[in-house]
Amino acid sequence: MTTSNHTAVLQAQDRAHVFHPSTHMRQHADGETPNRIIRGGQGIYIEDTEGKRTLDAFAGLYCVNVGYGRTEIADAIHEQAKQLAYYHTYVGHSNEPVIKLSERIIAKAPAGMSRVYYGMSGSDANETQIKLVWYYNNVLGRPEKKKIISRWRGYHGSGIMTGSLTGLELFHNAFDLPRAPILHTLAPHYYWGAEAGETEQDFSKRCADELEKLIVAEGPETVAAFIGEPVLGTGGIVPPPEGYWQEVQKVLKKYDVLLIADEVVTAFGRTGAYFGSQKYDISPDLITIAKGVTSAYLPLSGVIVGEKVWQGLEQGSDKLGAIGHGWTYSAHPVCAAAANANLDIVDGENLTGNAADVGGYFQQRLHETFDDHPMVGQVRGVGLLAALEFVADRQAKRRFDPNLKVGPQVSAACLSRGMIARAMPQGDILGFAPPLVVTRADIDRIVDIAKQAVDAVAAENR
Ligand code: PLP
Repeated sequence: MTTSNHTAVLQAQDRAHVFHPSTHMRQHADGETPNRIIRGGQGIYIEDTEGKRTLDAFAGLYCVNVGYGRTEIADAIHEQAKQLAYYHTYVGHSNEPVIKLSERIIAKAPAGMSRVYYGMSGSDANETQIKLVWYYNNVLGRPEKKKIISRWRGYHGSGIMTGSLTGLELFHNAFDLPRAPILHTLAPHYYWGAEAGETEQDFSKRCADELEKLIVAEGPETVAAFIGEPVLGTGGIVPPPEGYWQEVQKVLKKYDVLLIADEVVTAFGRTGAYFGSQKYDISPDLITIAKGVTSAYLPLSGVIVGEKVWQGLEQGSDKLGAIGHGWTYSAHPVCAAAANANLDIVDGENLTGNAADVGGYFQQRLHETFDDHPMVGQVRGVGLLAALEFVADRQAKRRFDPNLKVGPQVSAACLSRGMIARAMPQGDILGFAPPLVVTRADIDRIVDIAKQAVDAVAAENR
C-alpha cells in the first residue's frame, strides 16, 4: 500500500526533528524502521493518518484503562482549564479537584495510607519515594540507613536513580547505571528461576532468604527500603509466585525496612482488585501511582504516603522547616480534574470488576489456546495483564537465539493482523494489557489474532 503524501511529509519531518524514547535512533532517522503517526482513538482501537485502525491490546503503555475517546474526560479537562488552568500548591495552596482526588484515593487505598504527593510521571514519583525514604531516616537520626533494594527485572522508571532501581540491562547500558546506594535481588520469576523440583512456595521462600542474606551482608542498619511491583510488569508480566509477598514482608519487618509498592501499572483495577497490594495482601509503607489514575489523558503520578512515614515527615518539618521538595506542576488542577473524571468512569462502570471477570476469561482462553503450543513455554497473567513466553524447546526450557528476535517477530505478526501486543525486553515475551473496558468478544478477537501470529512465527522458525 502506498503512503499518502500527507503522511509521507509528516514522517520526513518526524524523522528529521523528533527524538523518540526507546527507539533505534539511527534506523529511525534513516527511515529503516516503521514510523506510524497516530491521529485518533476510539474504545480499544487507535487510528493512524492512513485511516488504518488497530486493536490496542496494550492500552498504549498499559495506561489507557478506560479506552480512547472518552469525551467525559475531555470535557472535564476543558471545563477545568477554563475555570483555573493552573495555580501552584506550594506553601499550602490547593485546588478543589486535587482535594477531591486525594480523598478518593486514600479512601480506596490499602489501610494506613495518609497523604498523596503528586508528580507527572512514574519516574518522578519514584524519585520522590527515594528522597522521602532518605529524609525520613535522617529525621529519625539514622543517616546511614539509605540503601534501597530492588529486584532484577523490576521496572521503576528511567531517571538516574529510578533507572538504577530498574533491573533491566537495556536501561543501564552506557548510562553508567545502576548507581549506589541501589542494590538488586532475585527476580521472582518462577519459570526461569526455580530449581528442579522446587515448588512455587519453596521458590518464594528462597527469594526471601536471598533478600535476607543481602540485608544481613550489607548491614540492616544501612538498608532503608525495598521496592517492588506487585506483579512484575515491563520485566515480563510475571505474577508473584505463591507466598512471595508474605515471605518478603516477614523479612522486611524483621529488619525495619520500608516497603514501597510500585503500583504504576497495577493500581486502579488492572489486576481485578483496586490496588495490586490488595490482591496480594501487601501492606506497603509507600505506594507509587501513575498511568491508570488519569488513563493517560493527561500526565499525573503520585506518591501515597503511609501514616508511619508521614509522622516522620511531620517531625522533619518541625526540625528543618518546610520540606525542600517540590515540582511546579505538582497537584496540577487540570490533571486532577482529568483523574476525577477518569476515576468516575472506573468506578461508575465497575472496571475493576470487569478486569476480574473478563480478565478471568482472558486467562482461561490464553491457557486453552497456548498451554500445549510447541513454541510457548509459559502462559501467565492476572486480571487484564498477561504474557506468553516463547521458547525454542519446551522440554529442555531452551531459549531462542536472541538474534532471531522471536518476541518482536510475534509482535510484528500481530500488528500485520491488526493488533498491538508488546514484545517485552529481556526474553521472547509477548505482553497483553488491553483497556479495562474490553468485552469477552474483544478477548476472543485478541486471542484469535495472537494464535494466528504465533502459528505463523512458529512455522518460520521451525
Ligand atoms: N514504575 C512502573 C511499574 C512502570 O511500569 C513505569 C512505566 O512503565 C514506571 C514506573 C515509570 O513511569 P513513567 O514512564 O511514567 O516515568
